[in-house]
Amino acid sequence: MTAITNHLPTAELQALDAAHHMHPFTANGELAEKGARVITRANGVTLTDSEGNQILDAMAGLWCVNIGYGRAELADVAARQMRELPYYNTFFQTTHAPVIALAAKIAELAPDGLNHVFFAGSGSEANDTNIRLVRHYWAEKGQPSKSIIISRKNAYHGSSVGSGSLGGMSAMHEQGGMPIPDIHHLNQPNWWAEAGDMSEEAFGLARAQELEEAILELGEDRVAAFIAEPVQGAGGVIVPPHTYWPEIQRICDKYSILLIADEVICGFGRTGNWFGSQTMGICPDIMTIAKGLSSGYAPIGGSIVSDEIAAVIGAGEFNHGYTYSGHPVAAAVALENLRILEEEGVLTHVREVAAPYLKEKWESLLDHPLVGEAKIVGMMGSIALTPNKATRAAFASETGTVGYICRERCFANNLVMRHVGDRMIISPPLIITPDEIDTLIARARQSLDECYELLQQKDLLHSA
Ligand SMILES: *Cc1c(COP(=O)(O)O)cnc(C)c1O
Repeated sequence: MTAITNHLPTAELQALDAAHHMHPFTANGELAEKGARVITRANGVTLTDSEGNQILDAMAGLWCVNIGYGRAELADVAARQMRELPYYNTFFQTTHAPVIALAAKIAELAPDGLNHVFFAGSGSEANDTNIRLVRHYWAEKGQPSKSIIISRKNAYHGSSVGSGSLGGMSAMHEQGGMPIPDIHHLNQPNWWAEAGDMSEEAFGLARAQELEEAILELGEDRVAAFIAEPVQGAGGVIVPPHTYWPEIQRICDKYSILLIADEVICGFGRTGNWFGSQTMGICPDIMTIAKGLSSGYAPIGGSIVSDEIAAVIGAGEFNHGYTYSGHPVAAAVALENLRILEEEGVLTHVREVAAPYLKEKWESLLDHPLVGEAKIVGMMGSIALTPNKATRAAFASETGTVGYICRERCFANNLVMRHVGDRMIISPPLIITPDEIDTLIARARQSLDECYELLQQKDLLHSA
């Protein structure tokens, strides 16, 4: 075990953290009493905390560390770029080599017809760009009434006012005056929780057809775009039935509605292809990117847009941009990340080794008494915890109670597995090996066993 010597004692760090640091998506008062876990270093798929615990990070940070931790090449590139040109903007008819190289590389990797990148500092910013971009696009085409963007409940598109409005997280909408006007939310294709007696096929089709109903109701002349994650991530790794996406594509084509694929999680190898749109067989007009673009080593995001949209927007001035759009250090780091993904054959490793092995092991958890469904696409998976598999029942306790207990058992067993309500989700670094997958599954099973025992003790194994 590595001795950690380069920081204050854990208790002191926790006290300072509690006194001054406001954590995102956290009840800070509660955390202050408990003390945050201090992560000090990481390598490959393993985090080390200030007490020397070695934790398997089955979430790749926040779905982003696709190439794994500890790649010195990215640190070297960042240091070199900082020495040469740490910053310059791209607003006033200027540019620089890292942003040019990155834009060209992304255009090469993206599906045909998507050849233009507008950079942002994050996925939230990129989706804010998308809101303005699609509305401005239709206005430029003489159809300014097309301003409504259709999204889905339980979607996650970021946490700024714009992107949080696009998202369908009700807990977020309750705070701070969201959603903004002209965002419309459809039901999500979550078969396990919401389908009743319908087959997966029929349910997928029905949920997709809600898009057509909404367009007809709102008016084709009012709807600018539909946005969705190819596979919902933060909503609980909800894999849509196979009938869903083809129907969505048909409807977008029929009514000339722009299709925005939010690839912030699904992009850059997560589903076994460069983009989740390829895995789902769809042709978006815009793709949102962030997270895996730099494997989280530097903050960067963007929108990849079609040739047609770029031409329309480019005919005039788009009054929009961020100080850090195309930041040279972030761009250089992202480029090095893409080089590693490509030259080291990481996507091939996903397709031929890691994803098939993980799928087999993940689905083996179905024999556990708590696990009702196990879904997985590439390197993102979920299991639904249930007190009754046959009826796909939810727990009688408040949603998330059981998931939280399971998550705490995982942490105690040195595994980062997240819970969304009572679903458990994983999204490990793409470079994870079969041996490490064995460890992941063993710790998950141990945690599920301990969770089950606790539910029995606390008398929580009841159906809603
Ligand atoms: C994380 C995420 C975002 C927001 O990205 P940030 O970099 O956190 O702003 C947007 N869309 C999806 C699908 C995400 O998972």
